[in-house]
Amino acid sequence: MWTAILLSAAAMTAIVALRYLASSGIFAFATNRRLPGYHAKLGQQIRSEIGWSLASAAIYGVPAGVVAWGWQEHGWTRIYTEWDAMPLWYLPLAPLLYLFLHDTWFYWTHRLMHRPKLFRAMHAVHHASRPPTAWAAMSFHPWEAITGAIVIPLLVFLVPIHVAMLGLVLLVMTVMGVTNHMGWEMFPRALVHSRLGGWLITASHHQRHHEEYRCNYGLYFRLWDRLCGTDKGLSASI
Ligand SMILES: [Zn+2]
Ligand SMILES: [Zn+2]
Repeated sequence: MWTAILLSAAAMTAIVALRYLASSGIFAFATNRRLPGYHAKLGQQIRSEIGWSLASAAIYGVPAGVVAWGWQEHGWTRIYTEWDAMPLWYLPLAPLLYLFLHDTWFYWTHRLMHRPKLFRAMHAVHHASRPPTAWAAMSFHPWEAITGAIVIPLLVFLVPIHVAMLGLVLLVMTVMGVTNHMGWEMFPRALVHSRLGGWLITASHHQRHHEEYRCNYGLYFRLWDRLCGTDKGLSASI
């Protein structure tokens, strides 16, 4: 049993690491074309971003691997595979719930990590990226990585979700984690500055967090930032 759990954790770590290298690699390549010179003089920083991110991959991989093993071997979790296991209207609702709950967890833990003591111990690594790059997507101190790594493995025990919708959540998580740090906006201005855009977090919102620290704490949505008066709007620099 322990061998199977270890193998599952190792496989998940490898998947998370490869997913990181592929997604950050693609968007770093796009950044080189869009903003030639953005990465100039950031070589040392990027090496450190990759190092912290690969360490985070192991921290994300372990709980994910244990849960994946339990799901396969013992039917743990509320992940389902039959399309009719839940009403059809629930299918798109589940990923929205996951994103909202993840965002809520992230907002409050992130705000806490901006208190001076916790900042130094847990969050300074992430803010050492100045300016952030696509490689900073998982550049977290291990303590911060743990706070992020437990969210989805816990939610799958609480909130039913179709396995394909879980894949969608992971895709959104990966793409937004990378693109919010790459230093330019890939979404059209018409969306970013629209009414809907006013509720969504993209690169121009998170960039401002990296510039000013004490604002724009959210992950996917601006709801908590707006409710709590911490939303300062979009960065003027991108
Ligand atoms: Zn960030
Ligand atoms: Zn922060």
